Amino acid sequence: MAVYTIITPDRLDFSPIIRVNFIFLFFCGRCRFSRRGQGQETSSTPTEEELKIKAINGFKDILPEEAVRWRFMEEKARDIFGRFGAREIRLPILEKTELFARSIGEATDIVEKEMYTFADKGITMRPEGTASLLRAFIEHGLHVQQPVQRLYTIGPMFRHERPQKGRLRQFHQMDVEVIGAPEPAVDAELMAMGRMLLDELGISASLEINSLGCPDCRPGFRSRLIGFLENRRHRLCQDCRRRIDTNPLRVLDCKKPDCRAQVQEAPSILDALCDPCRDHFAAVCRGLEALGVDHGVNRFMVRGLDYYTRTTFEFITGDLGAQAAIGAGGRYDGLIEQLGGPALPGIGFAMGMERLALLMEQQETPLPRPATDLFVAALGEKAAAYAFPLVHELRRLGLSAAMDHSGRSLKAQMKQAGRTRANYTLIIGDNELEQQEAILRDMATRKQESVALQTDAAEQAHLLALRVRQNVIVHP
Ligand code: ATP
Ligand code: MG
Repeated sequence: MAVYTIITPDRLDFSPIIRVNFIFLFFCGRCRFSRRGQGQETSSTPTEEELKIKAINGFKDILPEEAVRWRFMEEKARDIFGRFGAREIRLPILEKTELFARSIGEATDIVEKEMYTFADKGITMRPEGTASLLRAFIEHGLHVQQPVQRLYTIGPMFRHERPQKGRLRQFHQMDVEVIGAPEPAVDAELMAMGRMLLDELGISASLEINSLGCPDCRPGFRSRLIGFLENRRHRLCQDCRRRIDTNPLRVLDCKKPDCRAQVQEAPSILDALCDPCRDHFAAVCRGLEALGVDHGVNRFMVRGLDYYTRTTFEFITGDLGAQAAIGAGGRYDGLIEQLGGPALPGIGFAMGMERLALLMEQQETPLPRPATDLFVAALGEKAAAYAFPLVHELRRLGLSAAMDHSGRSLKAQMKQAGRTRANYTLIIGDNELEQQEAILRDMATRKQESVALQTDAAEQAHLLALRVRQNVIVHP
């Protein structure tokens, strides 16, 4: 009984079999505990495995090799967002819970069951970036500076979902928002920017778009849809039956095959748009064509956040199983006002970085490989003492430099130079030091030359920098 009250197995996503094991282990644990209490326990030394503290389920380390891919992705994104005039904004991870409840919507999956909330403090770890970005935009009156603002933010988001490939509990998004521009050209431009980023990351994906209408035309469609769904209520999943009353549009993009089959005949929101929304949608499509961005219309795409109006879009891949969406977004023309800000329109999207990284790996996107400009192989104590400040001075000049500190053999140090992908290696022995010269080896051509050694490390570094890196800017 205690198991269910202390830890809720549902929250921990245990299958029934694991749950039975869990209960069994729990009672074993209790028995051991009580025996220990009676002084009967002989050994309680934890095993090596038990001593290891592991990361929490759904929270993942990004190891150095993988981080190279992430950095490439971030640098590409910053570059491309900059080309479109977007400026970076950095935001806190914790926000008041109400911010998400009011923007994303009380009856959405995110707010209903995915948020990490400190209930006693009324704060939540952000599950997405738009709400936080708009909160900051309003709080600092950014619209006063410029009528149209393009902003982006990159960072971790938190959702309590079942972890699987491409779905984590801490994941990362690159989020771009354009605030203050109602024109359909902006929608097209933003999608073209997403496409450019995917292209430059070597990722192929299709773009699907839809319109969700506006407060003038959506309520009429909603009523018609409820009528349609009511007649099929008994054939829908439990979640969708509930959604008929709370969020009927969401039934349209339920991923369960039975629900999908049921909504095939559902009325289309695109037929229910008011004239301004229809014109807007047509202009977005024309804009995409003008920019050469391939796209398809998906009338079932609704998105899991309540704030969208008019244009919604998703970049979709077939290469990540059920995790098909790699980036998604849309227009939210009433949201800023709803959050207490000025009546400004907005549109944005977020790309999921874990999914981008997986696709880059699958599609073997070429990555820059970090190299060392100069490795200093010092043989003997005096040589090492000479090399120590020299390496530091080289680094001060902006070069990547490395040396061995453990007095290994020349052969071992040359191997190390190879591992660090050194372009050059400077070989200094105690004898060479006395004769004030060393050998500089070009690691690619294997050509070696003699280099005169200076007594002063800074001066030596300066000369070496000029030699090994033709384009280096040397600050004296
Ligand atoms: P999904 O349908 O896969 O749950 P979503 O509609 O909830 O996605 P959004 O809220 O629109 O996703 O977030 C934009 C992008 O962020 C998604 O397209 C996806 O790439 C990524 N993303 C969302 N949730 C996760 C997660 N739990 N783990 C990893 N990436 C995620
Ligand atoms: Mg989701």
